[in-house]
Amino acid sequence: MAVLEILLEGDERLRQKALRVRNVDASLRQLADEMFETMMDAPGIGLAAPQIGVLRRLIWVNVPENYHDSEEPEFCLAIVNPEIVKAHGRAFAYEGCLSIPGWTGEVPRAERITVKGLGLDNKPLRVKTYGWAARVIQHEIDHLDGILFLDRVEDKSTIVQVPEDEEDEMSGEAAD
Ligand code: ZN
Repeated sequence: MAVLEILLEGDERLRQKALRVRNVDASLRQLADEMFETMMDAPGIGLAAPQIGVLRRLIWVNVPENYHDSEEPEFCLAIVNPEIVKAHGRAFAYEGCLSIPGWTGEVPRAERITVKGLGLDNKPLRVKTYGWAARVIQHEIDHLDGILFLDRVEDKSTIVQVPEDEEDEMSGEAAD
């Protein structure tokens, strides 16, 4: 396994649409392992395959317990071909992105979602979640469609550079 290089904004591959995965095989599982290691090393709470230059529909979400001043449970899951089938509510929060280091902005997302896809065992999965896990899933699915979080910021005045002394916190808090 290896820690992979994370592409930065400006790289064309972050703007392309990723392809559906037909079959979860050993090579996809190996890619998922390397993505997990890369996400943990960054550190980040999510990662999408296009961020390491692979245009396949595979995301990781890894939100720790009580992540954001709430009593949210831990959420750690890889999803292949993720698709949001239900979405409710709307909430704003500041996001970051490993592909746009040092920047944050306030992004509206659905509060509660149901997502379906395939697990790394190649079996269909369907998950209902809310809060940060729901936010990160939406952020990562956007990466599969070439969308970056800054595109989603409605009030552009909320886009600010993270002060250097807070950057560690931010990158550990909302970077994906
Ligand atoms: Zn991101």
